[in-house]
Amino acid sequence: MTENQNNVLVKADHIKVYFKGKNKKSGTVKAVDDISLEIMEGETFGVVGESGCGKSTFGRTLVRLQKPTSGKVFLDGEDTADLKGKKLKEMCRKGQIIFQDPSACLNPRRTIRQILMEPFEIHNMKKEVDVDARILELLQLVGLDEYHLSRYPHELSGGQKQRVGIARALALSPKLIVCDEAVSALDVSVQAQVLNLLQELKEKLHLTYFFISHNLNVVYQVSDRVAVMYLGKIVELAPYDSLYEHRYHPYTEALLSAIPQVDENGQTERIRLEGEVPSPSNPPSGCHFHTRCTKVCERCKTEAPDLREVSPGHLVACHLYDR
Ligand code: SF4
Repeated sequence: MTENQNNVLVKADHIKVYFKGKNKKSGTVKAVDDISLEIMEGETFGVVGESGCGKSTFGRTLVRLQKPTSGKVFLDGEDTADLKGKKLKEMCRKGQIIFQDPSACLNPRRTIRQILMEPFEIHNMKKEVDVDARILELLQLVGLDEYHLSRYPHELSGGQKQRVGIARALALSPKLIVCDEAVSALDVSVQAQVLNLLQELKEKLHLTYFFISHNLNVVYQVSDRVAVMYLGKIVELAPYDSLYEHRYHPYTEALLSAIPQVDENGQTERIRLEGEVPSPSNPPSGCHFHTRCTKVCERCKTEAPDLREVSPGHLVACHLYDR
């Protein structure tokens, strides 16, 4: 843990994000259902969960790309919902996002120079910043060359496009970067290069990451703390090493068992989850995981477990660990 990690950079206070279903029958989709947490400055906070668990919606809420239905987000001590005008723009500079698919988030009709110019145009900073020099600096930071500036996105490889996405996120010198499945669309070898780059940039620029992935293995590689999400809720939250040594929640155990590992007998054990992920518009009663849990009991079907501390900094929402 670095010295910076004593300061809270992000505080999410009882965040709920609900969406109306397409029709009356589909009901309300509870994408994020009452999440509170703090992210420390200089930390990489990893979030893992299956597709549709609400992790991306929650990440977008932290940088104000998604308005919460209720609850508050504080970034660098300021309530992001209250900000307007100049203060709002300042806050937007502090929190940036890297998206999953670099091909989809770069305008195909603009050159890389024009794409990297955009943040300075949007924030009216072309007079106060030497934009050309800053763009060259950004290229160097992400390992691209000057000749890439005249290229269009389709002329770059997947890894190069993601480097452009990272450079764009860095342009306004943010404090927090939400990495939303930032390496999921890349080949495994390129994934490793981009993960290394993110790690180098974090150290060099004192960044804080909110790192989202469906892949627990990837989250393990980069995170200081890891939260496991299931149907809009955090079911386990712990420092990386604590979670690696001891998974309490049956869902985390199943996710971890999906990472290929050979035990001392030379065998790989995998816990296969039965059934589909239930719809977030009609989640199961009690513990949302009870329809797929191998350790379910009667109480789980009616009573939702609270997130409780089971060892220092290690929180779990499961009746197996209620005192
Ligand atoms: Fe399984 Fe019950 Fe724990 Fe939910 S509360 S994870 S159903 S044991």
